[in-house]
Amino acid sequence: RAKEQGGGRLEVYAADMHAQVVGRLELQARLRQALADKEFTLEYQPVVDLESSQVTAVEALVRWRRTDPADGDGDGRAAERLLLPEEFIGAAEESGLIVPLGEWVLREACAKVALWRAAEWDIGLSVNLSVRQILSPRFVETVADALEESGLPARVLTLEVDEEVLLEDPGEAVERLSALRRLGVRLAIDDFGMGYASLAHLRELRVDEIKIDPSFVRDLGADGTVTLLTHTIVRLGQDLGVQVVAEGIERPEQLEKLRSMGCGHGQGFLVARPMAAAGVEALVGGGAGIPL
Ligand code: C2E
Ligand code: MG
Ligand code: MG
Ligand code: MG
Repeated sequence: RAKEQGGGRLEVYAADMHAQVVGRLELQARLRQALADKEFTLEYQPVVDLESSQVTAVEALVRWRRTDPADGDGDGRAAERLLLPEEFIGAAEESGLIVPLGEWVLREACAKVALWRAAEWDIGLSVNLSVRQILSPRFVETVADALEESGLPARVLTLEVDEEVLLEDPGEAVERLSALRRLGVRLAIDDFGMGYASLAHLRELRVDEIKIDPSFVRDLGADGTVTLLTHTIVRLGQDLGVQVVAEGIERPEQLEKLRSMGCGHGQGFLVARPMAAAGVEALVGGGAGIPL
């Protein structure tokens, strides 16, 4: 009986796995179509100087405005949903679609921020990269082209990479990132502190910015060890002359703590949520600060 049960369970697993693989392939096909149909859109989240509360940059964050076929609620209209990266970035990476998608993100964001800068607003731009993009054949040229087409100066563009970029093919990744730096763009390590060897990586990669992972900011004040580690990262940044941005600031106590540590920059729902370009223009366009 146990054997029968075991066999049955195996069949359930197999059916499950099959459904998962099919689901994955379907998602990849839909993503490809979505790129052709221009269903992707960008939101921008302001980054502020914690001392002056001025917005110094925006981080571009991709969303998928997905139109689902008419649902069964009787009105026969298609439903539109705004999907977050966690629902599709993995599939885009697996299928390689992250390469053209990432190129679109880069061009779109550079063009938008170039427009803002043309209107006398001194603002920077951060764009997230996947490993797969960085290792793709013409990536450095792609970045150079996006800058040239938009007229955006290289120094106002920051490219954010996770530490995992150094796991797959460290030699090649460091080579690419160095080439990008030679273009004049800035490099940031995203989600800093979460990787197993954050400090070692700082030596291999010359970076301009460190983004402290939100998990540190969340427990600031409440957890002594986390508070100490955060303070250490902030001081490390100061000693190395690297800009430090704290991510995921949601509560005033966290903001105060970070300010008292001398953390230079911050980002989070307390400061501003990610929003469409028009929302950014309405809130802080032209260089208005955010009262904090
Ligand atoms: P990330 O680069 O670490 O981006 C910050 C994420 O934290 C964003 O999630 C943002 O909405 C969220 N966030 C900001 N402030 C707060 C806060 O106070 N509380 C909380 N709970 N969350 C906050 P989002 O937009 O869902 O993006 C998730 C991740 O997807 C990003 O993490 C980034 O790694 C990736 N991603 C986003 N856009 C792109 C892209 O264009 N290309 C690539 N390759 N990855 C992207
Ligand atoms: Mg980021
Ligand atoms: Mg990231
Ligand atoms: Mg992050």
